[in-house]
Amino acid sequence: MRPFEYIKPSTVDEATSFLSQNAEDSLIMGGGTAAVVLLHLGVVRPRYVVDLGGIGALRETTMKGSLHLGALTSIRSLERDPAIAADYNLLSEAASQVANIRVRNAASVGGAVAYGEPQTDTPVALTALDATVEIAGASGARQIPIADFYRGPYETALEQGELVVGINVPKPAANSVGCHMKFTIGSPENKPVANASALIALDPSSGKIIAARVVMGAVGGTPVVAASAAGLVGETPNDDLFADIAAQAANETDPIEDLRGPVWYKRRIAKVLVERALKCALQKSQG
Ligand SMILES: Cc1cc2nc3c(=O)[nH]c(=O)nc-3n(C[C@H](O)[C@H](O)[C@H](O)COP(=O)(O)OP(=O)(O)OC[C@H]3O[C@@H](n4cnc5c(N)ncnc54)[C@H](O)[C@@H]3O)c2cc1C
Repeated sequence: MRPFEYIKPSTVDEATSFLSQNAEDSLIMGGGTAAVVLLHLGVVRPRYVVDLGGIGALRETTMKGSLHLGALTSIRSLERDPAIAADYNLLSEAASQVANIRVRNAASVGGAVAYGEPQTDTPVALTALDATVEIAGASGARQIPIADFYRGPYETALEQGELVVGINVPKPAANSVGCHMKFTIGSPENKPVANASALIALDPSSGKIIAARVVMGAVGGTPVVAASAAGLVGETPNDDLFADIAAQAANETDPIEDLRGPVWYKRRIAKVLVERALKCALQKSQG
């Protein structure tokens, strides 16, 4: 590993002003679970490592109408916080399926989002929940819907020197219930072959679906938002409907063949996971 200078700013302004001069030579570090591996393997050889860990403001979580997560909020706290589990159950459920407790304690939600890794869980749930990514740079702050934030594998809308400072998650519509399903090979701690987040809301009087969102992960360069989920709205939920929508959703994916399997296999897995996630959400919403 090439020696580097360790920089630990204590405010966002300090970090962005340093990065405005040194972005090309810097590696930003959140929880470090991926960044340290990249350093160790020599995939990146920065002159500076900018550790965000000293910026207390990035650890703040608030719930005032919507959920604001500071970028350094750990994946473990998304899983453990009872208030998040109550109102944003899809997010806690996805967080609980990330790797193992050790990784979940260290990895941050900002790092998970900024990394742009296709084999990921929390950003898939955040996309299903229509989250917004809060960004800061030397030239100011901006916000971008998470679905627009992802541009390709490991490619995001972040400009050089910009930081993810937070994630804003709107409160799901009344009666919304979500489920996240993940399939791995080998250990369940491994990264997903595919995953799916489904969020549905039922009209309590008619029992019909009034809102639905399905997002799949690891089966495209970015989280895949299933347009076919619109076909659920206005329908009475049933197994045939879910199987049909899941088959259409799987056709919307664009997986690559790799060590986790060929394209047809990942599509097949995506179909099964979408179907299971929808059934799981329905079961939960029926109590
Ligand atoms: C063994 C293992 C298994 C895993 N399995 C899963 C899994 O199944 N599902 C899953 O979802 N995740 C999984 N992860 C976690 C995932 O791969 C990433 O390691 C993690 O999400 C990165 O978060 P971090 O805070 O540690 O980011 P870091 O490692 O600190 O950074 C990751 C990247 O994002 C950049 N970055 C970090 N924070 C910011 C920020 N605030 N603004 C701008 N750029 C930033 C860094 O420069 C770096 O390029 C696994 C990790 C490991 C080590």
